[in-house]
Amino acid sequence: MKISFKLKLIFSYIFVILISFGFIAYFLDKNLEENSLHNLQASLINQAYLVENQITAENIKRENIAHLESLIATLSGKIKCRITVINNLGKVLADSEKLQKEIPEMENHLYRPEVKMALVNKVGIDTRYSSTLKIDMLYVALPIKENKELIGVIRLALPLESVEKTLNEIRKAVLFGLIFALAFAFVLGSIIAAQTIRPINRMIQVSRRFSKGDFSRRIMQVSKDEIGELAATLNKMAQDIEDKIKEAKTQNQKLAAIFNSMIEGVIVIDKAGYIISVNPTIEKIFSIARKDVEGKVFLEAIRNNDIAEVISAALKSGKSVSSEIALIYPVRRIFEVNATPIFDASTPLGINPEQSRRIDNNVISGCLVVVHDITEIRRLETVRSDFVANVSHELKTPLTSIKGFVETLLEGALDDKENNRNFLKIIHDHAERLDSLVNDLLSLSHLESKEIMLKKTNFNLRQQVEDVISGFRSQLKKKDIEIKNELSAGISVTADKDRFEQVITNLIDNAIKFNNEKGFVRIFNEEINGKVKIIIEDSGIGIPEKDTPRIFERFYRVDKARSRELGGTGLGLSIVKHIVELHSGSVGVESTEGFGSKFWFILPR
Ligand code: ADP
Repeated sequence: MKISFKLKLIFSYIFVILISFGFIAYFLDKNLEENSLHNLQASLINQAYLVENQITAENIKRENIAHLESLIATLSGKIKCRITVINNLGKVLADSEKLQKEIPEMENHLYRPEVKMALVNKVGIDTRYSSTLKIDMLYVALPIKENKELIGVIRLALPLESVEKTLNEIRKAVLFGLIFALAFAFVLGSIIAAQTIRPINRMIQVSRRFSKGDFSRRIMQVSKDEIGELAATLNKMAQDIEDKIKEAKTQNQKLAAIFNSMIEGVIVIDKAGYIISVNPTIEKIFSIARKDVEGKVFLEAIRNNDIAEVISAALKSGKSVSSEIALIYPVRRIFEVNATPIFDASTPLGINPEQSRRIDNNVISGCLVVVHDITEIRRLETVRSDFVANVSHELKTPLTSIKGFVETLLEGALDDKENNRNFLKIIHDHAERLDSLVNDLLSLSHLESKEIMLKKTNFNLRQQVEDVISGFRSQLKKKDIEIKNELSAGISVTADKDRFEQVITNLIDNAIKFNNEKGFVRIFNEEINGKVKIIIEDSGIGIPEKDTPRIFERFYRVDKARSRELGGTGLGLSIVKHIVELHSGSVGVESTEGFGSKFWFILPR
């Protein structure tokens, strides 16, 4: 049964009052009873002495009943008590309450306790129920002596009614007092309980809100007592929890922001292998929606056995597991998958950190899978190794030739007047080739280094093309190729002039090299979405369709032997692409084999 605080307080008040009143009533009653009996006895004894004085021995001895009768009748009327005269043999001689004729019928009083005492010369006292008068009576008996001889007993009796009455009065007063005190205690208890309970109720209300997670309210502190202190402690606790929650929220937001913006794909898995969450990168890689996969078993959501194996290995071993995985569907890519087990961080109470670490190590609560796209890294690695192989190959050819001809010369051909100059000319050509190869490689690596500083100026492109063309005069003449500079007169661009000279030189050089005799080269411009498109068109051999996508790659040539023969390094277009892209532009080619090509580049204005 639930007893409210108010009732408990009132009950305790009532309990205290009842106990104290009980004690008071008990001792008061007892004391008063004893005291009043004592006083009554004393006054009765005194009166008995006075009465005794009035009775002469003569009357007793002679049993002068009439005289005794009238004497005690007068005296009893005055002192308002019953007087009995008894002789030393216990016979009643006179009694104020009895008529003379009734006396002889009265029994012998010798064995009444007070009479017995008086007969041995003592003051006899007794309280008992009087069969004669049918009430509680106080009896006092004194010996009547004549010259030390005991001749009778005088007995005074008083009904105890008055003592009882007084006591009853007092008892009534105590009872009234008790009732009043109880009523007062009830009222006072209620008021005090209400006052005490009010702040407690307020605390209960506010702490209920706390328990529901609403920490915006505070308990008003009215008193400075223990309850006030409790309120202050609760307020402090609420403030602390609110701060902690805020901190946790910001922390969570930060983590969520990191989680959502990570380039790496992240999957959080619980210890049973169910997906807790995935980030947007994972959604993109596997073409799934977060809401569809959360709460599902990994393999059911993402059908990739390799990743599932990595996860289960990490969960089983409790160690990080990583593996390289090639994905074919939905995208063809290479990923490095890293699964790291997550350990339960909660430390059971009463466990020292050493122990808890051990326990932590045993409790795996899930694992974190990070999917890192390494397709580009792998591609670059292949490109790099291909490049090294290409460079070595390109360098090896002229070097082998140079070495061969030098050896031939040393072995005696030096004295062969007809051929020695010819041999030296070949060596020179190969050295020249090596030089241009190294130059192109240097400029490529410089363009790729990203430290390159462009010295941008605004210049007239038509004029620059004109200058470049004049450098190709002899080649054009040799092949009887007509070149037309159809760029708009006012065409100007903001770019690095020296590097653009290289771009135009390379493109015009190719357009002449891969042209037919009596062919043409045309350079013109178009305006596309506010950008300048420069087109170098030729009537040359063209490029097969299958080769066009790779034509800008380093060392890529349609016909290696022909390119080498024409003094090409296979790096020219690659350099063009790099320079244009450094200027935020783009390059491209349209070509039909046997009909010519249109190389173009677009520059932002
Ligand atoms: P190269 O030093 O061989 O000229 P490039 O990088 O300039 O190297 O060109 C790569 C290849 O592209 C050439 O070998 C050639 O096969 C092809 N090519 C470039 N320009 C033209 C063109 N105008 N017509 C036909 N083929 C071309």
